[in-house]
Formats: sequence, C-alpha cells, structure tokens
Amino acid sequence: MKKKQFITIGLGRFGASIAKTIYSLGQDVLVIDISEDKIQEIVDNVTHAVQMDATDENALKCLGVSNFDVAIVTIGSNIQASTMVTLLVKEMGVKYIVAKATSDLHAKILYKIGADKVILPEQDMGIRVAHNLVSSNILDHIELSSDYGMIELEPPYEWINKSLRDIKIRGKYGINIVAIKGDKNVNISPSADYIIKNTDILVALGSNEDLSKFESIIVENK
Ligand code: ATP
Repeated sequence: MKKKQFITIGLGRFGASIAKTIYSLGQDVLVIDISEDKIQEIVDNVTHAVQMDATDENALKCLGVSNFDVAIVTIGSNIQASTMVTLLVKEMGVKYIVAKATSDLHAKILYKIGADKVILPEQDMGIRVAHNLVSSNILDHIELSSDYGMIELEPPYEWINKSLRDIKIRGKYGINIVAIKGDKNVNISPSADYIIKNTDILVALGSNEDLSKFESIIVENK
C-alpha cells in the first residue's frame, strides 16, 4: 500500500490523538502547532513536528503543503485561525481536508471554504453515546453524511437462528446488513441465507431517517 502523506495542524487532545494514531498505523504525518511545548510532547510519536503559526502562508508554502494527500485542521476554539488555515491548505491544493469545528455555524463555514469533512468531536460522540444508552442493542451509530448512516447492533432476541432473508430487514425497515462481525472474523458480504447467531454483531447501512425509525422500533419492543 502506497503511504499517504498526512499533515495535522493543531495539537490539542483531538489533533494529537489523530496524529499519533496515524503514525502508529505506519503512515507519515507532519504536525504543526504554534506552541513549542505541544511540539516537544509529540515529537517522538510523529514523522516530523514543526513549531509555527499555521496562518503564515509563506511558512506553509515552504513546508510543501501542496504535496500532502490529507490535511487535518484541528484548531478549534480560534475560529479565525481555523478558517484561515483551512482556506490556505485548500488553495494550496491538498486533496482531502478534514477540519474540526466547535459549533454548527463553524462547521457550515468550514464546508463552504472547502473542507471535505467537518467533525464536531463532542457533538458526534454525544450522539453515539446517546444511541447506545437509549437502546443497549445499538452499540454504535455513525452518521456518514447528513442523509446516510451506519449502526452496529446486537441482534434482537427474535432474530437469533433466523436467516437475513427471514428477518426481512430491508423490506420492513429499508436498511441493509452490510457486514457481520463474528467471534473471529468479519463477513463483509453476508448472503440472504446467513443464519444470525447470538454472538454476532450486525453492521447496518441506511438513510438516517430509516435508521431512526428502526431504532425506535427496537426500543419499543424491548
Ligand atoms: P482539544 O479540545 O482537541 O484539546 P482545544 O479546543 O483545547 O483542543 P484549540 O484551541 O482547539 O484547543 O487548539 C488546538 C491546538 O491548536 C492548540 O495546541 C493550539 O496551540 C493550536 N493552535 C492554535 N492556533 C494555531 C495557529 N495559528 N497555528 C498553529 N497552531 C495553532
């Protein structure tokens, strides 16, 4: 696999955790922060670490930012710096930009400027935890876009030992089981004849509207 080149700008808890994880997965990651302390804390866990003000256009150009495949802008609370840096990396031609926002309005601005994906960490995590708390069958809920999402769920009791065809999840709820996590492996394209076991975790894909309807039915039936 060809290594992708990542750049992470801003080393708060969110940015530092992303950068260290990318590096631990064997990819190259350059990190930037205005704070020398943040740079010193992370220097051994990333490919390169540079202390600079990322709103400095010339300094960004000198780093060759245009050669990076993915830029992750995780400056959150300083909205002016966050938007300015996102705009600069966009103009410099980075192919995929992920940016952290601290509010819905901030997120909207980042999308308008050209971010490909905007993350609101606290809000996104709050949604995922709430789904799991309301229905303990739902282990995780991920919004893929404003229209579509994915859930991971334990099969309700009445599905166990039935086939995917029997439970008619697509016909009844409009959602598709796209993968099944078993004890040891993941079946990424289960057939209609697959018999659901009580230890399985089902991964379902659908519109957010259909997933919400499905989740409320699961909660009502508990
Ligand atoms: P988290 O919640 O992820 O811990 P935070 O919200 O506490 O982050 P932020 O204010 O979002 O912190 O800043 C994240 C990082 O971005 C900080 O380490 C900060 O030093 C850095 N940063 C802020 N402005 C700039 C800038 N102009 N250039 C480079 N780094 C910056």
